Amino acid sequence: MATVQLKTVKFGGSSLADAAQFQKVRAIIEADPGRRFVVPSAPGKRHAKDTKITDLLYRCQKLAAEGLDFSESLEIIRERYLEIAKSLSIRFDPTEELEKIGAHLKEGATKDYAASRGEYLNGLLLSDYLGFPFVDAAEVVCFNAAGVFQMEETMQKMRKRLSEMECAVIPGFYGAAPDGDIITFSRGGSDITGSLVARAVRAAMYENWTDVSGVLVADPRIVPNAAVINTVTYEELRELSYMGATVLHEDAIFPVRAAGIPINIRNTNDPSAPGTLIVADDSAESDTLTGYTITGIAGKKGFCAINIQKAMMNAELGFCRRVLSVLEENGISFEHMPSGIDTMTLILPEDAIRGKEQTVLSGIRKAVSPDRCEIEHGISLLAVVGRGMRRTRGTAARIFAALAHARINVKMIDQGSSELNIIIGLLDGDFEEAVRRIYDIFITSVTAAETN
Ligand code: ASP
Repeated sequence: MATVQLKTVKFGGSSLADAAQFQKVRAIIEADPGRRFVVPSAPGKRHAKDTKITDLLYRCQKLAAEGLDFSESLEIIRERYLEIAKSLSIRFDPTEELEKIGAHLKEGATKDYAASRGEYLNGLLLSDYLGFPFVDAAEVVCFNAAGVFQMEETMQKMRKRLSEMECAVIPGFYGAAPDGDIITFSRGGSDITGSLVARAVRAAMYENWTDVSGVLVADPRIVPNAAVINTVTYEELRELSYMGATVLHEDAIFPVRAAGIPINIRNTNDPSAPGTLIVADDSAESDTLTGYTITGIAGKKGFCAINIQKAMMNAELGFCRRVLSVLEENGISFEHMPSGIDTMTLILPEDAIRGKEQTVLSGIRKAVSPDRCEIEHGISLLAVVGRGMRRTRGTAARIFAALAHARINVKMIDQGSSELNIIIGLLDGDFEEAVRRIYDIFITSVTAAETN
């Protein structure tokens, strides 16, 4: 008999939005005896115009804080849980708990407390439905009095509690400070709880179930039917997330990464799809490349470039430092700094410099007396990410040939020393086309050649 691998499974809000989704979740859990520790989010949207339970709870708290009546929103929440429970033929009734929550809100309960109740109630419901014991995250996810998450303490408490259990449901998104006050992670934080539980129980795999079949090579709004990435390394995923790909909460990677536990992004609505496996760079799985030279393309608009020009700049001692001090004094951090012998450019987010533009430019003029110093708006950054680039020659050539054919002007190129990514600066208007061209050259043409 094959050995059963212990797995922690986290289900997002859309995977638990109604009774039909709960049924899919149970079928997934029952299909693999290794799926023993379950972390749910709060019920999410059932359709595009729906409201997440978490947002309804934030609304209740806001109304309560303003001394206004919030009973209508609380009733909508009650009905949603009741409807799920009734359709699943279980006895769970949130009425009493919601009365307590309502009373706390009237006494001035915090936003974090309010928001956390979505996961709390959903955890109780799911534990009833699965027949798994419930473990309140407030008892095992620890924050200090200042609201900072405490890893060591959390691991100790969680390990102690869960090691005695065969299986459990642990609600995502929140924990508690030493005085019992509820604290939440930032939005989407159930991903972090899942990662913590996986590490605490020393799971062989952290499965993160959502509503897409994995991480996509490119944004599907730009490239319809973009391919799914089979395997991505933690480092690559960080690069892609930083540049705008949204899959997993950024902080969810660290706990499992440190323990060498892979993450598998799976689709609740298509459970037979293998999804995306997120692995360590030195693992055997990371050697099985996706079949494409690149792993993914991501990018963001909304940057600007400060172009500084001065003859003999590179011979001037401390030039760079003086320019960067001006940014530092204004509390601005930059993204990239391409330079030439007489020129230097700083690429930074528009948001960071808004309202400070003149102060920064005159600060630079005063600090280094440049021949020219100007700001250019409307810049996009595009990252082509792929561990396969390290062993393949000509990747950069293919990217820039594709862009040249499309008559797209490249304003900046930056290849990180890890050879894991190539960052390209473009004008905003060229961004989407550039993504499509790069996708075509590395993915569409390869797939087409395979099918011919
Ligand atoms: N329910 C919370 C949110 O909507 C946390 C989560 O789903 O992970 O952000």
